[in-house]
Amino acid sequence: MNHKRIVLKPGKEKSVLQHHPWIFSGAIASVAGAPQPGETVEVCSSRGDRLGWAAYSPSSSIRARVWSFNPDEIINADFFKRKIEAAIKIRKLLNIEQETNAYRLIHGEADGIPGLIVDYYPNTAVIQILSTGAEYWRDVIIEQVQQVTGCKYIVERSDVEVRQLEGLPIREGLVRGDGFPLHLYIEENGIRYRVDVLGGQKTGFYLDQRQNRKQVMALAQDREVLNAFCYTGGFTLAALAGGAKSVLSIDSSAPALSLAAENLALNGFNPDKNRWLEGNVFQELRLLRDRNQKFDLIILDPPKFAPTAAQAAKASRAYKDINLLGFKLLRKGGILVTFSCSGGVGRELFQKIVADAALDAGVEARIVQVLSQSNDHPIALNFPESAYLKGLVCIVN
Ligand code: SAH
Repeated sequence: MNHKRIVLKPGKEKSVLQHHPWIFSGAIASVAGAPQPGETVEVCSSRGDRLGWAAYSPSSSIRARVWSFNPDEIINADFFKRKIEAAIKIRKLLNIEQETNAYRLIHGEADGIPGLIVDYYPNTAVIQILSTGAEYWRDVIIEQVQQVTGCKYIVERSDVEVRQLEGLPIREGLVRGDGFPLHLYIEENGIRYRVDVLGGQKTGFYLDQRQNRKQVMALAQDREVLNAFCYTGGFTLAALAGGAKSVLSIDSSAPALSLAAENLALNGFNPDKNRWLEGNVFQELRLLRDRNQKFDLIILDPPKFAPTAAQAAKASRAYKDINLLGFKLLRKGGILVTFSCSGGVGRELFQKIVADAALDAGVEARIVQVLSQSNDHPIALNFPESAYLKGLVCIVN
């Protein structure tokens, strides 16, 4: 018997029995066996029932993340191998490779590996380790990811702020393979992009918007488009491929815009049809409004304004601001495609913000489509937090 274990307070086993993988510090009555950061501990109820196995994280308020709800499971290299294989099997069933050769392979808790993100790019897996538990198994995970995917290169992008909450340092760079190509290309929905997996945002590309970019492609014919927060041109190129008359693409990141311009050329689109504008969207939308400029299709895909619920109020004001301006910049019959990737702003709240924005802009609008994250970012029913990307397609009349 493993003596390292955590015992929950009376009644606190409920969420574990519902297979929610997070155990907060306040739910724990005692810790036995002095587990080291990331070590596997058995989870027991106050009555001594064995509930499963978790990774112990002494410096995080999420004190343990459950690897398995099966008390007989053994957490070892084979466990990770099976989880990675299961995740790949789901992507194969979904035929994702028909649309793209870059997709999320492991979506953390939603794929049964808390704290681990793996994005697959041609011959390259990019891993992001977000929790002490996943960090503890890092070498095993890297080995299994390489074996199961057959990727030559493994890149690590463990450079996100949440690692601080887990007491982990930033770590990034090539961890497997020599002579990593500076130019890595992907093809999504027939459009080619160069992706900077080492220096770009996230793991290099916003893979979660794949199916939504396809939707925009279908809506763009003959439209004058505004793509706010364009990054490396995802929605811009999708709109051009869909026959957009013109696009104005705004982002504050010069490196992102330079890669975006490269991507436009890579696909042979007419550069005169698009204008890249380096600027702050909050200001640029106001300038466009003051000049009374109008568009037929506007995409708003801002960064995460509220990572957690604590920032929801401030984030709501920011979402309201850009959506209000977005509605004002639309012609009659125009379409707003608006997103929030904030974990702290739920779907209901987001829709309320967009409704308030329409009201204040003095427009009548209806939702014609509800969007979410692409299917390579599954949402676990036992972990609703894995549903983070919310989108609405609204038509103004
Ligand atoms: N739609 C993109 C992803 C957008 S990510 C795609 O499909 O690839 C959000 C982008 O917003 C990032 O590129 C970031 O550089 C940019 N950004 C963040 N704050 C901004 C601001 N205030 N003004 C303009 N761009 C901003």
